Amino acid sequence: MLLIGSHVGFSKEKQLLGSVLESISYGSNAFMFYTGAPQNTVRLPLNDLLTYEAMKLMKENSIDINNVVVHAPYIINLANTKDLDKYNFSIDFLVNECKRCEDLGIKKMVLHPGSHVGCGVDNAINSIANGLNKVFSCTKTTILLETMAGKGTEVGKTFDEIKEIIDRIENKDQIGICLDTCHLSDGGYDIDHFDTIIEELKKRDLLKKVGCVHINDSKNISGSHKDRHANFGYGTIGFDNLINVIYNRDLEDVPKILETPWIGEYPPYKFEIEMIRTKKFNPNLEENLKKYYG
Ligand code: FE
Ligand code: FE
Ligand code: ZN
Repeated sequence: MLLIGSHVGFSKEKQLLGSVLESISYGSNAFMFYTGAPQNTVRLPLNDLLTYEAMKLMKENSIDINNVVVHAPYIINLANTKDLDKYNFSIDFLVNECKRCEDLGIKKMVLHPGSHVGCGVDNAINSIANGLNKVFSCTKTTILLETMAGKGTEVGKTFDEIKEIIDRIENKDQIGICLDTCHLSDGGYDIDHFDTIIEELKKRDLLKKVGCVHINDSKNISGSHKDRHANFGYGTIGFDNLINVIYNRDLEDVPKILETPWIGEYPPYKFEIEMIRTKKFNPNLEENLKKYYG
């Protein structure tokens, strides 16, 4: 079965229930969200009643909790070996976020491996793995390392870097990866030949580790290391290539999550998901959104 959804909000008032309602409005059966603002540490207490109602609504709409993922806030940087305070803060905050996942019944969290801020990739890989081993000693959440575009000093722009981190993790059951099509392309991987990418994963024994795929087109050419997402079929990766990723047999059981940009004040997901389900490109995305939401 096609597992498709998008990034959704997580509001103060409605929390997980709001995220489920938003996902349903797009025709999704999977979704991803931040449990609070990604750039700060303000976290409101979870409301158990809202979580309970969200679970009930998910059941009624055949949304499996295994296809729901949280994205860790991007203020976390386990690769920073320069600033011990920041590193320790990252570990503590990541543990907190994992506990929030546990309270929400969510098993998977996507994490950017981090930026080495000039200290080198090798140091970063060690530091990320050590940090994760600490986190895993006190949480049950599975962490999916996201493949990155290689912007600035980002670590995790190649499967080899991701593999080196995973090799150093003690509890292998708690570690996985999240592919991001925009990041793969910007990082220099050729989505035109996705079979080759699958082979590269297999060679490193990483294919079975894929727990989520972020589906984004890219505003820039492959290898640009820019990380700017484009709407589905509107970028340099293109409609057919993205459809090919989504319907790849080897990734059938993995949730696919859109992180494409809003157009003006409107989320594109309902219409992008329609394109994905029908496998037909919609050249009038903006007009359709204005008509539907306007
Ligand atoms: Fe991400
Ligand atoms: Fe992503
Ligand atoms: Zn990105």
